[in-house]
Amino acid sequence: MLVRVVRHRVMHYMDVQATIEATAARAAELRHRLHRIPELGYEEFQTAATIRAELDALGIEHVDGVPDAPTATIAWIGDTSKPCVALRADIDALPILERTGLPYASTIDGRMHACGHDGHIATLVGAASVLKSLARELPVCVKLIWQPAEEGGGGAERLVEAGVLDGRIGPKVRAIFGLHGWPGIKVGTVATKPGVLLAATDVFSVTFTGRGCHGAYPHLGLDPIVTAAEAVLNLQQFVSREFDPTDSAVVTVGTFHAGTAVNVIPDTATITGTARTLNDAARRKIQAALERRCAGIAAANDCHVKFDWIEGYPPTINDPAMADYVASIARATVGNDRFLPVARPSMGGEDFAYYLEQVPGCFFLLGVEPPDRDSYPPLHSDHYDFTDAALAVGMKMFVELVRNFKV
Ligand SMILES: [Zn+2]
Ligand SMILES: [Zn+2]
Repeated sequence: MLVRVVRHRVMHYMDVQATIEATAARAAELRHRLHRIPELGYEEFQTAATIRAELDALGIEHVDGVPDAPTATIAWIGDTSKPCVALRADIDALPILERTGLPYASTIDGRMHACGHDGHIATLVGAASVLKSLARELPVCVKLIWQPAEEGGGGAERLVEAGVLDGRIGPKVRAIFGLHGWPGIKVGTVATKPGVLLAATDVFSVTFTGRGCHGAYPHLGLDPIVTAAEAVLNLQQFVSREFDPTDSAVVTVGTFHAGTAVNVIPDTATITGTARTLNDAARRKIQAALERRCAGIAAANDCHVKFDWIEGYPPTINDPAMADYVASIARATVGNDRFLPVARPSMGGEDFAYYLEQVPGCFFLLGVEPPDRDSYPPLHSDHYDFTDAALAVGMKMFVELVRNFKV
C-alpha cells in the first residue's frame, strides 16, 4: 500500500484547524462528564449511553453493541463505496480509588479513569463531529469504534471476532489508527515507531503442592513455600541466562499466596505473574522455559506443580508504512519538531494489537504532560488525569489522518 501526505487545500486546512479548536471546549466538557462515571470493562453502560447521545446530537447513526460486547459503539461517516479507515477509542476505567481532588472527579467509589480513556472517548467524539461536517469531501469512509474493556478484558479481540474490520459490521476496514495519552511526553507532541511498539502481556499462575505439617517438624512434610520462593528467584534466570540479551523480556511475579499461621507449613503456595515479550517466538520460548523451570524446582523439592499459562494481548506491531504516515501527518499538523520518533518498544501492552493483526495501521502516543510541569502522574496512578489541552491535538491527528489518506 502506497501512502503519501498531501497538504491539499491549504485554506481549507486552516478552516479545519479552526473548527477543531472551536470544538475542543465541547470535547473537554464531555470528557469531564465521562470522568465522573468511570465503569469497568464490559460494564460501560452509562459511558456507552453518553457516547450514543453525543452521536445522536451530531446526527451520526450508530450500531449499539455486538453480541459479546454490548457496550461497544460503532459508526461510520462518508461514502461507503470508498476505502474505509477506522479510528478507535477504548472506553473502560479501572478499579482504583481516585485521589485527584478534581471538581469532576469520579462519583463511583473505587472506580477511576486512571488510564485516560475518558480523553480517548472525547477525542474521537470531537473528531467525529468535525469529520461529519467534512463527510462529502473525505477521500475515504471513516469508521469510528468505541471499544469496551481494554484493561485486561480484550474488547478489541471480541470486536474483531464480531466483524468490526472484515465488513460484517459496516464497511470493510483498510487501515486503522488509535492513540493513547502518554504522561512521559509534553502536550502538543505525538510519538510512535514502526514495528513493535508495545509488548505481549501473558500471565502465568503456578501452584506448588507439598504436604502440610507442624512448623517445628518440617521433615514430616513437604514445604511448598520454600519451593515457590525458589521459583520466584529462578524464573529471573530465564531473562538473564536463557534469553538473547539484545532482545527484551520481563518476568514479574506479582502475587505470592501461602500459609495461615506462623507455625504451620501449608499444603500449597501459589504465585502469579506477568511475562512480557516483543514477538511470538519469544512468547513461546518464555512460556516453555517458565513451565520447565517450575517443574524442575517442584521435582527437586518433591512437590507437585500445576502451571497455567493465560494468553494475554499479542505485541502491538505498527505497519511501517502506516507509522511513517502518522509521522508525516504529525510533522505537518502539530509541528516538525513535535513528532518524537520512539526509539525502543515499551513493555506495556494494548489490545489494539488485535486490530493490527488483521489490518495495517498504527498506534501512537499523544503527549499529556503540561508544558509547565517537570513530571506527571503515571498511567494507572490515583492522581492521573488526561490533560484537556491534548484533546485538540488528538482530534487534529485523527481528522488529518483521515483527510489525507491515500490508497
Ligand atoms: Zn491502562
Ligand atoms: Zn489505557
